[in-house]
Amino acid sequence: MARAYNFSPGPAALPEAVLRQAQAEMLEFGDAGASIVELSHRGPEFLEVARQTEADLRTLLAIPDDYAVVFTAGGATTIQALLPLNFAAPGQAVDYVLTGHWGKTAWKQARPVADARIAATSEAGGFRDLPPRAEWTLSPDAAYVHVTANETIHGVEFRDIPDVGDVPLIADFSSSIASEPLDISRFGAIYAGAQKNLGPVGIAVLIVRRDLLARSGQPRAPIFDYRAQLEAESMLNTPPSWNWYMLGLTVRWMLGQGGVAAFAERNARKAALLYAAIDESGGFYRNDVAPAARSRMNVPFFLHDEALNEAFLADARAAGLVSLKGHRVLGGMRASIYNAMPEAGVQALADFMRDFQGRHG
Ligand code: PMP
Repeated sequence: MARAYNFSPGPAALPEAVLRQAQAEMLEFGDAGASIVELSHRGPEFLEVARQTEADLRTLLAIPDDYAVVFTAGGATTIQALLPLNFAAPGQAVDYVLTGHWGKTAWKQARPVADARIAATSEAGGFRDLPPRAEWTLSPDAAYVHVTANETIHGVEFRDIPDVGDVPLIADFSSSIASEPLDISRFGAIYAGAQKNLGPVGIAVLIVRRDLLARSGQPRAPIFDYRAQLEAESMLNTPPSWNWYMLGLTVRWMLGQGGVAAFAERNARKAALLYAAIDESGGFYRNDVAPAARSRMNVPFFLHDEALNEAFLADARAAGLVSLKGHRVLGGMRASIYNAMPEAGVQALADFMRDFQGRHG
């Protein structure tokens, strides 16, 4: 079978060029006589991979010099658990804005070790919109305000960076990092699991303003301490070196494609194409998110007749379009269209949707 267009939410499609390079270097990395994943993380080959990857990521995302980058195993969820340990004093308030499943997860991770407050939530409306900024109840004494830039399951995305005053804003960019230019200086920290827009699962990235690292936080083991991690250059213990290497290849590929500005244009066109296929279907397909809050990365949609779901998925698969089944929390369908998804893939999906409707409408 040829490679299909893969709409998986994460782990997600990787650029074919990245997979081919990894394949070519699988048995021997350069002239090292071994694969990069077989070599010490303290050896010259991997140290160069790590150095180059950080340099490229800094270029790609225009990371200001006063921000540190931590590469870490454990996924975005572990970062969510470590945020209050590192950046909030014992018992200090932390404010969470819940716009979907993952914001709620982040809040749950913080609850055991902080006074985790819900500053705003759109849960009552089924997470179909962003709670208006004017209705947020922020705590002046909060250690930080946490938002989810893009909700992977509910398909809701912040299109503007909310102003939260002097309290540092921390944002989960797991499913939208590097999808468009971002002014990182507006944030105290941003973070992302790599498995959607940055590379493979098994590694996550935290980009944090250095002054936040001076906070004493709460008692914690060194392995949970981002200061200690940084001093050890993210190698306090054996890092996920293969994943780090793959992330490096993916970042370099994005730079070669024109960087985040180029992806922003492509991503806007891709999203417009897909939402048009839904909105112009006369109700055969439906997306329930308020238009201004619709995600450019994850597009959940429903068929007017749920009984057609299985046929839709089977026919899509036969047409070379895979991983369209929606998350169990919402049901229906979901197309994830990250940077590695070419415009031709989204066009193929839109064409398929019109064709399917023609046969079943
Ligand atoms: N945040 C968001 C926005 C996500 O989409 C996900 C995973 N889908 C997570 C957090 C959790 O990430 P991980 O599985 O890497 O812990």
